[in-house]
Amino acid sequence: MIRRLLLWDVDGTLVRAGELGAAVFDSALEMVLGMKPTSRVRMSGKTDPQIVQEYLEQMGVEETDERVDAILRGIEVQLAAASADGELAAGGSALPGVGAALRILAADDRVLSTLVTGNVAPNAFLKVAAFGLDQWLDLEVGAYGSDDADRNRLVPIAVTRVASARGVLLDPTDVWVIGDTPRDLECARAAGSRCLLVGTGRYSSEELAPLGADAVFDDLSNVDAVVNLLAGDL
Ligand SMILES: [Mg+2]
Repeated sequence: MIRRLLLWDVDGTLVRAGELGAAVFDSALEMVLGMKPTSRVRMSGKTDPQIVQEYLEQMGVEETDERVDAILRGIEVQLAAASADGELAAGGSALPGVGAALRILAADDRVLSTLVTGNVAPNAFLKVAAFGLDQWLDLEVGAYGSDDADRNRLVPIAVTRVASARGVLLDPTDVWVIGDTPRDLECARAAGSRCLLVGTGRYSSEELAPLGADAVFDDLSNVDAVVNLLAGDL
């Protein structure tokens, strides 16, 4: 019986996609608009549609739904190609402890792990699959940038999917968000859920510590501590 839902962020938390994560936006923007951005927007903790909206504003291009959708399709095409080439797996990595922690938690049938990420769903799937992490995750019930541009709406989407697809109704306090930015904490709190922040993305654990998450770790390499925090009280 599932009693705990773990919502893992992707970039900076489970994996590092390397240069490719940003490069796919450059290529998709060029494909659709005929020009590349002159500088990159900060992407940490943002949803893919939000990143596209910021690029359009920065480039002085009018935002239309058609344009945003076309660019989002572009980043899917670009990442799928990079994944098929092996470029994604070669240029990125799973972060320390992640594989072991997900494997141990997946063996506990009281715990369900999935993703809450700003990535559009196909790109989230490719990023975790490139490092063999998809086997420990119930990807179907996750929530993605393709579901909503506002990250704060994603936790309830995942909780609703778990209820309808797995028949388990969970209280927000049974839910942990594991992420690497203040935006991950914000989306956890918006849903009344708990939050573990890790210093493996753009923010160090020292920068994240004062924000008031339930826990802050330098990284996920202390697997016993991670498993104990997220499932030790069950
Ligand atoms: Mg992240």
